[in-house]
Amino acid sequence: MEAKAVSRSKILGMQVYGSDAVFVGSVKDIEFTLGEGKPLLVVETKYHTLIRVEWGKVGAVEDIVLLKEPIKIEAPPTVKTEETQTEKRENICPSCGKKATWIQQYKRWYCYNCKKYV
Ligand SMILES: [Zn+2]
Repeated sequence: MEAKAVSRSKILGMQVYGSDAVFVGSVKDIEFTLGEGKPLLVVETKYHTLIRVEWGKVGAVEDIVLLKEPIKIEAPPTVKTEETQTEKRENICPSCGKKATWIQQYKRWYCYNCKKYV
């Protein structure tokens, strides 16, 4: 990387791309680690999470911040849908249409109306 001064005001808000041309996020802030004196880019990802990128990983700063390597950003954990949660709790008897009951002992659904497993 060629020695070039990059002002803080210039880099703030800049879009950050990994070396694989994948959009990482935008520069939110710059942090300095005491002792090491190396700045860290605080990047707000497209998932609205904050990650820190070492300055040494920055390849070029022009119209965008281009990193020397691809950065893997993890999507925040998705909330389980209600459907998958209720699936285990409820089952309808195909014969009479009433609610069947889960019999844990036999791990089967039982319809008390039809008095049979469904
Ligand atoms: Zn039934």
